[in-house]
Amino acid sequence: MQKKKLCLLLAMFAGTVNAADFESPLILPSEISHKAIASQWVVGHYQNIEQANKVWDHYKVDIHLLPATVTYFDYPYATIEEVSDEVEQMVASGSTINNTLTTFASQISHTTKGHAQSPMGDDDLILMNKVPLVLSEDTVINKRYQFVYAHEVGHTFGAKHTQENTVGSTEELFKNGYGTKQCNVEGTTSLMSGFTSYNSAIGLPFINGQAGCDQGTADVVKLLNHTAVKKENITPLTGVQTLVASTREDINAQQFEVTLTRSKDIDNAQPATVYVATKVKGDKTAALAPKNVEFAAGSKTAVVTLPFDQVYPLFDNADTKQGTYLVAVTEDEVIPTSVNLLDYNTQWPKNNNGGEGSGGSLSLFWMMMMSLAVYSRRKLV
Ligand SMILES: [Zn+2]
Repeated sequence: MQKKKLCLLLAMFAGTVNAADFESPLILPSEISHKAIASQWVVGHYQNIEQANKVWDHYKVDIHLLPATVTYFDYPYATIEEVSDEVEQMVASGSTINNTLTTFASQISHTTKGHAQSPMGDDDLILMNKVPLVLSEDTVINKRYQFVYAHEVGHTFGAKHTQENTVGSTEELFKNGYGTKQCNVEGTTSLMSGFTSYNSAIGLPFINGQAGCDQGTADVVKLLNHTAVKKENITPLTGVQTLVASTREDINAQQFEVTLTRSKDIDNAQPATVYVATKVKGDKTAALAPKNVEFAAGSKTAVVTLPFDQVYPLFDNADTKQGTYLVAVTEDEVIPTSVNLLDYNTQWPKNNNGGEGSGGSLSLFWMMMMSLAVYSRRKLV
């Protein structure tokens, strides 16, 4: 009895209870709508959100991110600078974006991996809400850049790279909301430092002001919790996370069968899109082209099938410990979290002897690659 009470209390204090929900719509260029890279973007966006939420949960940051609509706009799939310019013109011409977490896509970048605007004080929050994020393709195809999105989200809530960057801040919390390149005696970089070489025993980047990252006066968590409350009141939610995908492995037909259930606009016929992707090393195939499926008028459900011979190459190519995920969306509904197809798989790999697929023989190689990666630092903005 006593034990039960304690668990209940612990659950109450376990972080996400007071977190404010924020949605992150994805806006992709029309020119990629039929290409496999669109699947990598949609699935990758879900993964970015999941990774960011892990960071916020771990450090008791009161932010909880949710995926939202996926929309195609007419803008070029170009460099991050070109897309950022394009977005700036959209904002200047009075586009209706009212959420800083609206994410635009740009090509692979060898320099900056993400762009976001950062408020200097509470006064900036409403104005800044019109300016969306831009991410480079690296953030959805390369595991190494899986926290770039979290970093950019940190900017939109007021966090800066360095103490110098906070000089124009109008409030004390904003003055202390900065990252450091060396955030502990081991010299580890922090999430907001502007470097991607995070190296943490817990698999998450350190964050200034919290255990493991205690050099200087910076306290990013305090700032984020402050702005989360302020932004919650000015950022409307759409509640589009109502689509349901239920998956089963159909061994007879040699395919995965995914039943989508919608809850809006059931009287009308409506298209849905299904995206399947994983993360790979090198030039291997990492995604299927988006698959379209139609809800018939009056029907709550629609079924999409994914033949094993289309999905297994992704299982084969997937990076070590990387799932192969499915995301389904309609114009006004999305699934709340991605589906890992491996969770429904019993038939792959055919010669299931723990060799290929589990990455056994590769792991030493990748461990060496990863330790090299720690020494080659890349800058972000
Ligand atoms: Zn940055």
